[in-house]
Formats: sequence, structure tokens, C-alpha cells
Amino acid sequence: MNNWNDQFDLLIKSKTTLIYIRSREEERVESLISEAVKRLHPRRLASWDYVKGLQGILNSKGLGAKQPISVLQWLQTLDSSSPTILLAKDFHKFSEDAGIARMLRNLSSELREKSHTLILVAGDWSPPNELEDLLTILDLPLPKEDEIRTLLGNIAKASNSQIKDDELEELTHACSGLSEIRVRQVAARALAQRGRLSKEDLSEVLEEKRQSIARSEVLEYCESQARQSDIGGLDSLKNWLNQRHQAFSDEARNFGLPLPRGVLLIGPQGTGKSLTAKAIAHSWSMPLLRLDVGRLFAGLVGASEARTRETIHRAEAMAPCVLWIDEIDKGFGGDARSDGGTSQRVLANVLTWMAEKSSAVFVVATANGVDRLPAELLRKGRFDEIFLLDLPSRQERLSILELHIKHKRPNISIPLDAVIDRTEGFSGAELEQTVIEAMHFAFAERRELLETDLILAASQLIPLSRTAKEQLKFLKEWASSGRARPASLKMN
Ligand code: ATP
Repeated sequence: MNNWNDQFDLLIKSKTTLIYIRSREEERVESLISEAVKRLHPRRLASWDYVKGLQGILNSKGLGAKQPISVLQWLQTLDSSSPTILLAKDFHKFSEDAGIARMLRNLSSELREKSHTLILVAGDWSPPNELEDLLTILDLPLPKEDEIRTLLGNIAKASNSQIKDDELEELTHACSGLSEIRVRQVAARALAQRGRLSKEDLSEVLEEKRQSIARSEVLEYCESQARQSDIGGLDSLKNWLNQRHQAFSDEARNFGLPLPRGVLLIGPQGTGKSLTAKAIAHSWSMPLLRLDVGRLFAGLVGASEARTRETIHRAEAMAPCVLWIDEIDKGFGGDARSDGGTSQRVLANVLTWMAEKSSAVFVVATANGVDRLPAELLRKGRFDEIFLLDLPSRQERLSILELHIKHKRPNISIPLDAVIDRTEGFSGAELEQTVIEAMHFAFAERRELLETDLILAASQLIPLSRTAKEQLKFLKEWASSGRARPASLKMN
């Protein structure tokens, strides 16, 4: 937290008058500011909430309860002999009131001369435009792993319960991304139930995180059974993913490797992008969160940015996890003129988070094309890698057909050469469709699936590549100029 403390101290010393601390963790904010007040002597700390009014100043206790404007008037009349930091908890709810908005504007300059500071604390609040310029926004990040480790260690010590080092380590990892209050709640529950902290609490932590996702409108928790072995072809992508998986280990951290950031998968429909996202999560034993970009933008203007922050917090709370941003081209490909620049601002938030994130959230973004993708997304360094998933080669068609036939009719063996010849230009999804269609033919006559069924089914399907030839050509040319790596070992 040193960094945050330094930032905060600097704001106070430079006489910043109105600060908005963006956090749901009021208690943590209050304790951090109490610590800061000791460092920033001779300042004193007062707090205000709607029900209790003013606290922390003996002869004015309770002032301004249910009367927010009174506490601002009190602050205005304070002289400069005792510089005061006022932490106002429910204040943002009254910011639309004309009197209060006016008062805040006046205070923003008047307080500076007397070295007083008004701090508003709230989780998700979009300040009205006229206040936005006056407020200095300071985000309070979720506790880092070493803070969680210390917190859990202290809780264990205070309750006289032993926790083994490796158990503390695992629990710390699991709690990463939870707010301090949540960590305390999980620990309190564990102590009440078992009298000690242990590995058994891990499943409760995961359940806690799962519930937090269920409350989100934008994120969906996907159960995935797909394995990497369910993907036919795409060997270059699969090799790369196996390497990246190893980079999540503590051994990799000690070796000096950064945490993997994510991958962008571009390709025509049905080439296995979603399947890959699901298989990564399952084979890495991480939860898969699907982000619905469209929902980020639904509703009020200005709400999208708050929703994006909230979504990022929730995803971080699930770390280590895979965050699947499906159809990123449709979500962020909007025209800045038509949506007042919202999509640009949300995209900027996402990109900044991706560049700075220190949590184990692996982003898998998928897109059908590049023409609508913002250039900033494609710039090197945003994702660890960009892959082009082309239509499957001959060899890949064979493995995809084999996989789907084996999955559905495990005990048969069918020669596939002729089918492969007749399915050039088919996507993985179309190959799967061919197998299903052929099985319908066989089942209608209550007999085993034959080569001829597959050939007939293939002849009746018009692959998308025939109609979207130009688009595919463009995509391949774009990728071949070094901007994306082929997902297959050999492109044909
Ligand atoms: P879209 O762009 O339309 O979302 P996509 O690239 O995400 O398409 P998927 O949804 O992954 O495609 O593919 C649909 C289905 O096709 C998969 O669930 C899988 O059954 C089959 N499929 C696609 N590619 C492959 C592959 N390489 N190996 C095995 N099956 C595949």
C-alpha cells in the first residue's frame, strides 16, 4: 500500500480540497486515512455519515445527522488553526441537490486557504459533470497478496490457531481479489465453524467468488467440460498455450517471468475460438467468465465506465481465472460519433487495466474480423499474442472429423479420405454439422454410420467460406504481414 499512501499524502500536502476515493471498503479507507493523519501531523480526522452525523470532533458530535448541508457549513466556518480532513460517507447521494452542489463548488476553493480537505468515499458513483473537474479521484486497489497473507496470518494468530505455511499460501492465493471485508468475513466464518483457518476454507472462498459473479449483469460464469484434446488441429496455438500455462506458477515468478496477460483469437465463424477459450479454462483448472460486451454498453450514458470497473473488480476477485471477451470486434467496433465516445472510453479503461494488471486474469478475446477492431487493441504488447484461426487444413479436417465421430460413435472405424477431399473450405463447426447430418441419415434407417452418409452430408452443405471468400482473403493477407500468428502449424 506504500504507493497509495504516498499518493494520498501528496494530495493532502499539496492542499487538494475535494477528493473522491473510489472504493466500497469504507472501513479500510477510514483506517488508511487514520494512519495517514498520524503521518500528516497536525491534521485531525472527522467523519460524517447520514445517520450518525459528525464523529471524531468532541464538541460537535452528531452535527449534521440527516442534514448533509449542515456539515458542509461547519467545515466552511472552521478556521485554519486545526487543519481537518473530513471523510464524508454517504455524500455522493446528495450531489444532485442544487444547494449541495453549489456549496461543494464554493468549498473547493475556500478550503484550500485553510488546509482542510473533504473526502467523499463511494463504490460506484459517476460524479455529475460540474463536480467532475473539481474532484481528484483516487482508486483504492483491492488488497495485494502480501497484505492478504499478513491479514490472514494476524487473524490466525489473534484466534490462537495454527495455520501451516503451505495452507496459508493457498488460502492467500484463493482470497486474492477479495476485498478486505470479504477476507475477514470468510475468516470469521471459518473460525466460528472449525475454530481455525485451514485448507477446508478454500471451497468457501470459491463459492463466495462464484456468488459475486452471479450478481453481475455483464459476466457469466461458464461451466466448461471442453479439453484441449477436443480441439482438432490448431497445434501451434495449443503448443503456445501449454507454454503460457507454465508461466502462472510461482517457479515462473521466481524465474522472473511476468504473469501471462492474454490472447486474441481472430478467425471466421466456427473455427474453434470459443472452444479454445473453454478448453483453456478447463485444462488450466480455472473458472471461465464470459463477458458480454454488449451489456457493458446497455443503459445510461456514463454508466458503462462504472460497469466496466465493477466487471474488472469482479473478474479480479475470481483470479486465477480466464476472462473471455466474446466478439470483441462487435463490442468495441462502435463509431465514436454515434455513442458519444463511450466505447472509446470503455476500451481505454480495459486496455489500461490489461497493461497494468498484476492479477492472474488471463484474457481470451475472440473476433471474426479485423476491419472493425480498434487499432489500439492490435498494437503489440496489448495481448501476449494474436492468433489467426484459419479454416482447417486437410490434416486438421481429418483430426476434427475423427474427434467428432469418435465422440458420438466411439466403436466404429470409417475411411475418411474421400470425405476430407470433399470438405475443403469447411470450418470445424461445419465438419461437426456434417457428422451430425450423416448420423441422421444412418439413424433414419436404423443402421451404422457409413462413409457414404458423410459424403452425402458434405455435398449438401454450402460452407460459409464460399460466400465469405473475399473477407477470408483479406484476413489472411492481413495476418501474413506479421500482425498475427497462424494457429495451425502449417497454413494452406
Ligand atoms: P463464432 O465465431 O461463430 O463464435 P467460433 O470460432 O467460436 O465461432 P466455436 O463456437 O468454437 O467456433 O465452434 C463451434 C463448434 O464447432 C465447437 O463447439 C466444436 O464442436 C466445433 N469445432 C470448431 N472448431 C473445431 C476444432 N478445431 N476441433 C474440434 N471441433 C471444432
